Amino acid sequence: MAYDDQNIFAKIIRGEIPCNKVTETAHSLAFHDINPQTPTHILVVPKGPYEDLDAFSANATEPEIVDYIRTLGDVARQAGVVADGYRTLTNNGQDAHQEVPHLHFHIFAGKNLGRMIKPLDK
Ligand code: 5GP
Repeated sequence: MAYDDQNIFAKIIRGEIPCNKVTETAHSLAFHDINPQTPTHILVVPKGPYEDLDAFSANATEPEIVDYIRTLGDVARQAGVVADGYRTLTNNGQDAHQEVPHLHFHIFAGKNLGRMIKPLDK
C-alpha cells in the first residue's frame, strides 16, 4: 500500500491541523486522541511516512525506531500511568480496523482495562 500523505496524522505532523500535543522528539510526536476511549488515551506517531507497523518495521531507520520506542515509554512515564499500568495497541490493516493509515500506537490508561481481546468464538 502506498503511503497517503493526505491522511489526518500527516496533516497534524506538518502542523496543518492542530492537536493537543503531549511531546515531540526528532522523529516522533505524541498527542491526545480526539475521541478518548479511556481517561488517558494518547497516540504516538513516527514523523516519517509509514502507514503501519509493517512498513515501519521494514523501512524505518534505526534512529527512527529507537526514537519511537523510547518515546512510547517516555510518554507513559510522563503521563504517570506506569505504576497502575497501561496498554499499548496498534491496529495494522483491515482486519484490525485501522482507521488512519499512518502508524500510531495508542496508549490506554486510567482505569482497569479488562482482558486484552474477546476469546475466539467456539
Ligand atoms: P485506529 O482505529 O486507526 O487505530 O485509531 C485511530 C484513532 O485516531 C482513533 O482513536 C481516533 O479517535 C483518532 N483520531 C482520528 N482523527 C483524529 C484527529 O483529527 N485528531 C486526533 N487527535 N485523533 C484523531
